[in-house]
Amino acid sequence: MTPLLEIRDLSVAFRTRGREVTAVRNVSMEILPGQTVAVVGESGSGKSTTAAAVNRLLPGNGRITGGQVLFDGRDLATATQREMRAIRGAGIGLVPQDPMSNLNPLMRVGDQIAEALEVHGLATGRAARARVVELLDMVGIQDAARRVGQYPHEFSGGMRQRALIAMGLACRPKLLIADEPTSALDVTVQRRILDQLERLTAEMGTAVFLITHDLALAAERADVVVVMYEGEIVETGPAAGILGEPAHEYTKRLLKAVPSLSSVRVAEPAGEPRDLVVVEGLRKVFPIRGTGEELTAVDGVSFTIPRGRTVSIVGESGSGKSTTANLLLGLD
Ligand code: ATP
Ligand code: MG
Repeated sequence: MTPLLEIRDLSVAFRTRGREVTAVRNVSMEILPGQTVAVVGESGSGKSTTAAAVNRLLPGNGRITGGQVLFDGRDLATATQREMRAIRGAGIGLVPQDPMSNLNPLMRVGDQIAEALEVHGLATGRAARARVVELLDMVGIQDAARRVGQYPHEFSGGMRQRALIAMGLACRPKLLIADEPTSALDVTVQRRILDQLERLTAEMGTAVFLITHDLALAAERADVVVVMYEGEIVETGPAAGILGEPAHEYTKRLLKAVPSLSSVRVAEPAGEPRDLVVVEGLRKVFPIRGTGEELTAVDGVSFTIPRGRTVSIVGESGSGKSTTANLLLGLD
């Protein structure tokens, strides 16, 4: 199958204080039509810069210093701004990393999405407004008909991220670049939004370029995982392979990651002084997409929380702390 997007040897540099620093170096990857490819890497590894280069939305001090970005057979690295305006939104949808700075605070959310439709000549006036309500409804915003008239500050963080997903999908793009689309949200809302995104893009046959720093999330959601480190790709492969047998030192470190702490607090009800929570043999598995395999997140966890006490769950990243907490809270 011919790739929808093929990045060949892409390099990007930023000019800062008179010096040019390379942020992305010789990156090559491809996305087939309808495929989900996750780009994983720590903060500063060049994920957003790669996405911005594809969309030709690099900041003023950044430039593509080499390589090609072939989208549907055409090289975006050398396309004119006019050509890019036609491709953005309609060919390539973008869900940007930071919802607050990417929504206009002075404009109603509905109008911002309608604008995307109008720019690409897909709908105008009343038809555009009706389509916007449909889109907001599609991404799971309740009472969408009323919500379209609200401003971004009247939306919750999760709703703003949903609105941006609606905007990214508004023109039914062939490719959606989703840059940490749920990073600011708690695990359960994240799961719900990602489920919706997966369903919608599958329906539309949209390929997804999913950017995340969360390896487990990438493995669960993507067909192919690309690991970036310091501006370069250090590993690429099917999700299950990368988790099962990480080849690169950095990927192994990502899997182990740094120890972190989370605590579960349970409100103290009136009544008998006994253990408030008794957990026995807790187990939770997540499917790894397209492989039929499963990732065991929590297995055989048992503990008790005495009344009125705080119990801390300590463990490295990905060890199952949040999954345990969510199971306790009944947030499956
Ligand atoms: P995060 O997970 O934090 O979003 P990222 O992988 O998306 O990180 P990028 O934002 O692509 O990382 O940054 C890659 C490198 O490029 C970093 O070293 C960053 O400091 C640098 N960089 C990004 N934008 C600029 C800019 N406008 N000017 C100078 N350097 C920049
Ligand atoms: Mg980023």
